[in-house]
Amino acid sequence: MGTPYERPPLAERVEELLAAGGPLPIVAAGDPVLRRGTAPYDGQLDPALLARFVEALRVTMRAAPGVGLAAPQVGVELRIAVIEDPAPVPEEVRRARGREPLPFRVLVNPSYAPAGTARAAFFEGCLSVPGWQAVVARYARVRLTGQDESGRAVDEEVGGWPARIVQHETDHLDGTLYLDRAELRSLSANRAVAERWSQPTPEEAARALGFELP
Ligand code: ZN
Repeated sequence: MGTPYERPPLAERVEELLAAGGPLPIVAAGDPVLRRGTAPYDGQLDPALLARFVEALRVTMRAAPGVGLAAPQVGVELRIAVIEDPAPVPEEVRRARGREPLPFRVLVNPSYAPAGTARAAFFEGCLSVPGWQAVVARYARVRLTGQDESGRAVDEEVGGWPARIVQHETDHLDGTLYLDRAELRSLSANRAVAERWSQPTPEEAARALGFELP
């Protein structure tokens, strides 16, 4: 039994994490925290602490740099993620991948379901699997449900690259890494992607490395 003066252990851990200031250390694949799944956010952090935690996620994502970061990637087992994509890519890539600029937003208790049957396959990477990328076939459009950081309900359809980001980050909250869904024969070091597979679509990579596209 807790006393009214005792802070919940999770809030205490987050306070400790934030005490150092600046970007948080990102957990790498192999740490069980990336595989356990997360508890729905239900007020475990008070509004002020939640706001500080979200800000730390934003700072960490931008410093990495990345286009999304889920709470377990900084060792916190809560169903919270942040996403943001300035999308600094050539027009040809933007069109092929639907990579439109995505303003910063917070996903609280997100879930997704396919919206239609179309799938899209592209190289993606993960801040918890540094140095590598692989092709993942994902739903081209999803229905995203959940809340935002102030508790307002979210229920919308998302397409293009933002749909990929939403699926990748929500999967983290369920203990799933992108490699679980990837074409493993496409696995490429960042350098190989830069040198060989920067085409707008992965068709050439599929032929050369021997994997299927949807
Ligand atoms: Zn990731």
